[in-house]
Amino acid sequence: MAEEFGTVVIGAGIGGGTVVEELRDAGYAGSIALVGADPAAPYYRPDLSKKVMLEGSDPADSALRGEDWYSAHDVSTFFGTAVTAIDPASQTVTLGDDQQLTYGQAILATGSTPRTLDVPGAQLGNIHTLRDAGDAVAIRSQFGEGKKVAVIGGGWIGLEVAAAAKTHGCDVTVILHTDAPPLSSVLGTQLGEYFEELHRKNGVNFLKQADTTAFTGSDAVEAVETSAGSVPADLVVVGIGADPTTGPAASAGLTVDDGVVVDEHMRSSDGSILAIGDIANAQNVLRDERLRVEHWDNAVRQAAVAASTITGGSAVYDWQPYFYTDQFDLGMEYVGRGGPDDDVVIRGDKASDEFIVFWHRDGRVTAAMNVNVWDYGDELRALIGKEVPAARLADEQVSVGEL
Ligand code: NAP
Repeated sequence: MAEEFGTVVIGAGIGGGTVVEELRDAGYAGSIALVGADPAAPYYRPDLSKKVMLEGSDPADSALRGEDWYSAHDVSTFFGTAVTAIDPASQTVTLGDDQQLTYGQAILATGSTPRTLDVPGAQLGNIHTLRDAGDAVAIRSQFGEGKKVAVIGGGWIGLEVAAAAKTHGCDVTVILHTDAPPLSSVLGTQLGEYFEELHRKNGVNFLKQADTTAFTGSDAVEAVETSAGSVPADLVVVGIGADPTTGPAASAGLTVDDGVVVDEHMRSSDGSILAIGDIANAQNVLRDERLRVEHWDNAVRQAAVAASTITGGSAVYDWQPYFYTDQFDLGMEYVGRGGPDDDVVIRGDKASDEFIVFWHRDGRVTAAMNVNVWDYGDELRALIGKEVPAARLADEQVSVGEL
C-alpha cells in the first residue's frame, strides 16, 4: 500500500534539504517526504573538502538541520534509500526497498555522480572519489606526514583535496591528462597558471600529459600507472568531474538534455515534477540562456524557487552563478560565467595575492573573481553583463562601485 504525500523530494543533499525548509517557511501545509540515498540527513557539502578534511571536523556538524527538525516540521524522512523508479502516470515513487510513495508534486534534487576511471586495478583499496561524508572521512583518515597522495584531475575537488593533503604533511602529486594548467577549462590559462603556482610553492607536484592507464598494488593501491610514468601512492583521489544523476528523471520520461530540462520556475516537461540543483538544465531569465550549474549556491537558490512554484509564488531563476574555494592561504569567490578564452583583466597586483579578476568578452564583463579581498560581492555581481572598457576595470583609481 503506497503512502500518500503532498510533495515527495527525491534527493537529500543541499537542494533537497533546503527545499523542504523553504516549503515549510512558505507555509506549505501538505505532507512532505524527503528521500535520499545518503544515510545522513542533508549536510553542507562544501565543508567536506574544506572543514572536514582540513580541520578534521565531524561531518555531522555540517548538517543543515538536526534530525529532530524534520519530525518537528512533519517531514517524513527516508534516508539511506535510493529511488528506483518514478511513475508519472500514477504519480508514484518506488524506493530501493520496494516501498511506494505517491505525490501531488515531486521535486528531483538527485545531484551528481562522480566519474570514475575504468582501468585495471580500479577496485584496489584507498582509491576514492569525493562526494559524500563517508568519502571525506575515509580520505582524511589516510592523511599523514609523508603519506603519498596522488590526485587525478585538476578541477575543484583535485585542488582542494591536494591543498588539504599537503597541509597535513602528505607528499602530493596532481596528475593532469593534458599539458594545460589546472582549472584552465574554467578560469583560462593565466589564472590556471596562478593556481598551479600557488600549489607548487606550497610543495605540490604536478605530472602533466599523463593518462591514467592502471592502478597497481596488492590489496591497497601502491602506484598510479600513467602514460607519463608511474606515481607511487598510498592514497588516490579521483576528481575527474561528475555527471548529473538523471537516471530517475530519464526513466520517468522527462525531457533530459545535459540535465533535466526545466523552465525558470523549475518545472520539468511533466507539470507535477520539478528539478533543482546539479541536475537542472534551467532557463535563467537574467542571462536569457539555459544553464546547468554544479555548485551549492545554485541548489540552495533553486530550492527557494521550487518552493515558491509549489506554493503559488512567482519566483524565477534570475541570478548569476556563484561559488568559492579555499586552498592554502587563498580564498576566492567567483560570480558569473566566463569562458576560458575570454579576455582576462586583472585589477590589482597578482603577485600580492590580493586582486580582482574580470573576464571580458565583446566589451562586457562575463565573470568576476575576488582573490583574498572581500566585501565586493554585490558590486561584482552587479557588473556581470555590463559594458565596461577593460582599461576602466583595471583602473584602481575608479572604485569597484563606480565601474
Ligand atoms: P571538475 O571541477 O569538473 O574538474 C574535473 C577535472 O578533471 C578537470 O581538471 C578535467 O580536466 C579533469 N579530467 C577530466 N577527465 C579526466 C581524465 N579522464 N583524466 C584526468 N583528468 C580528467 O570536477 P571535480 O573537481 O571532480 O568536481 C566535481 C564537482 O564538484 C564539480 O561539479 C565541481 O564544480 C564541484 N565542486 C565544486 C567545488 C567548489 O565550488 N569549490 C569544490 C569541490 C567540488 P579538463 O578540464 O582539462 O578536461
